[in-house]
Amino acid sequence: MTCDETRLLLHAYLDDELDAAQSAAVLAHLAGCAACTARYEGHARLREALAQPDLYRPAPEALRERWLAAQPSAPATARPRRGPIALALAAGFAGALLLTSPAWIGGLRAPGAADHAVIAQAISGHLRSLQPQHLMDVVSTDRHTVKPWFEGRLDFSPQVKDLAGQGYPLAGGRLDVVGGRTVAALVYRRHLHVINLFQWPDGGAGSGSRQVQEQGYTAIEWSGDGMRYVAVSDVEEQELQRFVREFRAGVPLR
Ligand SMILES: [Zn+2]
Repeated sequence: MTCDETRLLLHAYLDDELDAAQSAAVLAHLAGCAACTARYEGHARLREALAQPDLYRPAPEALRERWLAAQPSAPATARPRRGPIALALAAGFAGALLLTSPAWIGGLRAPGAADHAVIAQAISGHLRSLQPQHLMDVVSTDRHTVKPWFEGRLDFSPQVKDLAGQGYPLAGGRLDVVGGRTVAALVYRRHLHVINLFQWPDGGAGSGSRQVQEQGYTAIEWSGDGMRYVAVSDVEEQELQRFVREFRAGVPLR
């Protein structure tokens, strides 16, 4: 990706509106380009400054009433779904992952293209989360504030577990997008490393876990308790496997 292409995509990248393949391409360019990184950081500062609540004034009630009276009763607008081009790009990225991954382990079911895309997007989400100010929307050393934070932001209640005693303290959480839907991302730490745990409701029955290695990152995907999970980190492979075991054995917070 060139500097010009990157600059065109920076705003969408900042707003998390790119698909997995585009996000990965922008991230790869930023890693090697000081000029684009400086521009990115400038945009990020401006975005933060514009989000200050004291910049906003409520509209007068009379204006609100006039506006409402002028509207035909339209249904609430939904966010547009991803178009076929974005899906094709994501599938291409997933295909690249398939070619470069040495092995799927524990493959009780044959991994389909959709599974690859989901794991590729989870790794992409992990990489995005390592960018400045992307890691957490709720920062907490108190685990009891993380679970309530998700309520009202998601149409499901994520499984949050306290693994501090096992050496994986919970650091916070945020919303992310995997497989075209909004998911919960819990952020755990292992020493100086970050573990992102993505989760969303899974209609199907539980299944075996699978593991993918990609560019120094490990992703482990599994289902259980009606949820689908993908854990992603750059910790040692065995370390992430232990995290998954501890999480599965842990007691959910109420
Ligand atoms: Zn550049």
